[in-house]
Amino acid sequence: MAILPIAKIGNPVLRKIANPVPLEVINTPAFQQFIDDMFETMYENDGIGLAAPQVSRSEQLVVMGCDGDSGFPETVLINPKIVFYGPDQVEMWEGCLSVDGLRGKVTRPSSVRVQTLDRDGKALDFEVTGLYGVCIQHEMDHLLGKVFLDRMDGMSTLTQLQEFESYWKEESATVI
Ligand code: ZN
Repeated sequence: MAILPIAKIGNPVLRKIANPVPLEVINTPAFQQFIDDMFETMYENDGIGLAAPQVSRSEQLVVMGCDGDSGFPETVLINPKIVFYGPDQVEMWEGCLSVDGLRGKVTRPSSVRVQTLDRDGKALDFEVTGLYGVCIQHEMDHLLGKVFLDRMDGMSTLTQLQEFESYWKEESATVI
């Protein structure tokens, strides 16, 4: 296991379209080890999601996991696609391991249907809502070279972490 260095905003890898993972690669020891390293890196940094471009590998791989009442199970997405967006919108404060010390409000569809491969290369098709659905959209944006700042309606809610704790934490039930 290894903690991988995180690419920060300004690193060109975060702005690239990630490449699909070749199917024959998924079950190799090296790729399975990479998935484990991604989880370890995510937990070490107190994240709930991490996309491979954030550790400087431009590949369509995401790991996610979040404990607690509004949490969701450990999830691995390989070559994922969102095939349906629900009609309702949800607004949440978002932050990102590649954007240190900042949070901002983002409005996104509250539910999405996802088709993906899991870490064994098995095809999955599922629908998610709430924090899980928002986190999936945030992480999959990284595979398109997008960060949450690109999804904000404007910069007026952009907040440094210390000010977020002072002024905004109370109103936000969930933060990703
Ligand atoms: Zn992010």
